[in-house]
This record gives sequence, C-alpha cells and structure tokens, in this order.
Amino acid sequence: MVATMKAAVLHALKTPLKIENVPVPEPGHGDLLIKVTACGVCHSDLHAVDGDWTPPPVIPLIPGHEVAGRIVKLGAGVSGFAVGDHVGVPWMYSSCGTCEFCLAGMETICKSAEATGYTKPGGYAEYLVAPAAFVGRLPDDADPFALAPILCAGVTTYRGLKRTGARPGQWVTILGIGGLGHIAVQYAKAMGLRVAAVDVSNEKLALAKSLGAEVLVNGAETDAVAAVQEKIGGSHAAVVTAVASKAFEQAILMLRPGGTVAYIGLPGGKADEIRTSISAITNWELSVRGSNVGTRQDLNEAIAFATNGLVKATIRTVKLDAVNDVFDEMRKGKIVGRVVIDMT
Ligand code: NAD
Ligand code: ZN
Ligand code: ZN
Repeated sequence: MVATMKAAVLHALKTPLKIENVPVPEPGHGDLLIKVTACGVCHSDLHAVDGDWTPPPVIPLIPGHEVAGRIVKLGAGVSGFAVGDHVGVPWMYSSCGTCEFCLAGMETICKSAEATGYTKPGGYAEYLVAPAAFVGRLPDDADPFALAPILCAGVTTYRGLKRTGARPGQWVTILGIGGLGHIAVQYAKAMGLRVAAVDVSNEKLALAKSLGAEVLVNGAETDAVAAVQEKIGGSHAAVVTAVASKAFEQAILMLRPGGTVAYIGLPGGKADEIRTSISAITNWELSVRGSNVGTRQDLNEAIAFATNGLVKATIRTVKLDAVNDVFDEMRKGKIVGRVVIDMT
C-alpha cells in the first residue's frame, strides 16, 4: 500500500488549491525525502496559481518553495546527509550542472533549471523530494518557521542587493515592502547600506521603519521619484520587489548618476512591460540588472545572515487549509511580512 500525505494541489490555473491526499513521493537517485515543517507563501506561488507567467506551471501542481523540514529518507547515492538533518528547499530545485552558466557559478540562469513548486512538486504538502545537491543546510536548533522565508525572500533579496554593487554607506531604495521587501531592508542594513523604503501602504512602511529604513515614501500619496530625489539626492542603488510595473519605471528615475537597479519582482501578464527614458539611462550611465533567486552559495550566505540574528522575517503562521484565503489577502496587498504554513 502506498503511503499518502496531505497536500494543496492546483488542478487548473486561476482556481483554488484543493486539499487532498496524494501519494508520498519516492526519492530518486541523489534525492532526499523531506518531511515539511514550514513553508512560506511567496507571491510567486500566487503568480503560478493565477497563470501570470509564461510558460505556466506544470499541472497538477503542489506549490511552495520556502521550505524548512527534516530528512526522513535518503535516495540512492546520497552522501553527506543523514535522516533527521534540518534542511531548506529553495525555488532552485536543480540546474544542469554542465552549461556555461552552471560552470561559472551562475546556475540561476541555467536554461535547464527546474523550479520547486512550479515545474516540480513543492512544499504545500507533508513531504517533498528535492535533490541533495541543491538543498540548504539549516542549523539543528534553528526556528524553521522564521527561516522558511529565507529560502526564497531571503536569498533572492540578498542576491539582488549584491547585484546592485552598492557598498557600505551608500543608499539603496527598496520598492515594495512585502514578503521580499521587508527582508531586503534587513539584508541592506546588515550590509551597511542606508535604506529608503517605498510602498503604497503605510502599515508596510511602518514595518520598514521598525527594521531600520531611514526614509519612507508612500507612492500612492506622493510622487515617489521626486521624493527620493529630494530627500536623499537620488539613490546609489535600488531593488524592486513590487508587483506593479510603475515601480520598475520609477526605480530607474530614483537613481543617482551611475546608479544600478536590480529588478526582482515579476508582475507578469499585461504588467510585464515598462516605459523608460533612454536619455536618463544613457546620460547618467545607469544600469538595470535582473536578479533571479540565488545560487547555492548565495543561499548558504543568506541563511548565515539569518542564523546569526542579522535578518529575521516577520511572520504569521497558518494551517494548510487556509492557503486560498492567504492568496486572497495577498491579491489585495493586505499581508504585512510573510505568511508561513505550519505543516506540523
Ligand atoms: P508581496 O505581495 O508580499 O509584496 C509586494 C509588495 O509590493 C507589497 O507590499 C505591495 O504593497 C507593494 N507594491 C504594490 N504596488 C506598489 C507600487 N506601485 N510601489 C511600491 N510598492 C508596491 O510579494 P513578495 O512575495 O514580496 O514578491 C514580490 C515579487 O517578487 C513577486 O512578483 C514575486 O513573484 C517576485 N519574486 C521574484 C523572485 C526572483 O527571483 N526574481 C523571487 C521571489 C519573488
Ligand atoms: Zn519565492
Ligand atoms: Zn546549466
């Protein structure tokens, strides 16, 4: 008899997830079977459910890619891990390992990469399988609920900040203080940067302030570009995690001459386009860079910031059955910090 597990499953785009009993997966060669303790709800999961991106996710889909759990079974050929080990599973499920990007430590842009909770079953379930080569190691005594968001929101914003090239003492403007953005503020502070925060919600800006942001701008109430230029003379760097194309347009114009913006958010669909000023980019030698989750090395470093107490997600936990309600809250922009599913 095949053992079963509880999971939240997407059967058709734009429909609610169904809570069902499905077979517990078997770890293949090089894989780990992991019992999920906690799984964060990332806006990317909502994009997957709503079919915002091309290509769409592989359906039926179990979403979830901010996973903390314990190993319960080792697949053939796995070494260096033991049953009971505390691990985290990120969006980067795997990459080919042999293309020019993988060979250069840039597996984030491998064209053969697989994505947890998008092309492979994710963590909205009691168990999942993940390749041992791509999981993050978590300290045995670390809080899995606080750490789960580091597996995506953490590593992604950490890499995004690094890709701006900003150095200690410089200003970074974070646009979008949601699940990713409130963690970005903390990495930025820990990296010695000064932070300006932009959102359309005063509650989220209050969170950014409590985490060390010095300048707060509500883009729904004021001209956010003018505010950043006036208050700090423009930003050396910017990171965009907002789910609105307008913020991506604004971020370029918030830069100082020579500044760099890292794009992280992925609004998708009709919101996937921006209009910008060619002359602003050319005359002021601005740089616009994409940043896609993070490498395994980024993940190790991002986890270390968190386990050293420098970064801590603001979380609220829910049970798996509440996940569709969480998506509704996220669509309305009502979530402050990150919601984490408690799978225990
Ligand atoms: P979230 O819903 O928690 O946060 C989004 C925030 O953007 C909210 O606080 C919202 O108020 C704010 N916002 C909306 N419109 C705005 C505007 N005009 N100006 C400023 N702020 C605005 O979402 P999240 O989980 O933090 O994810 C954010 C985005 O990042 C999503 O599109 C997600 O898919 C994407 N993402 C990308 C990567 C990557 O590797 N590039 C990784 C993870 C998530
Ligand atoms: Zn994510
Ligand atoms: Zn590759």
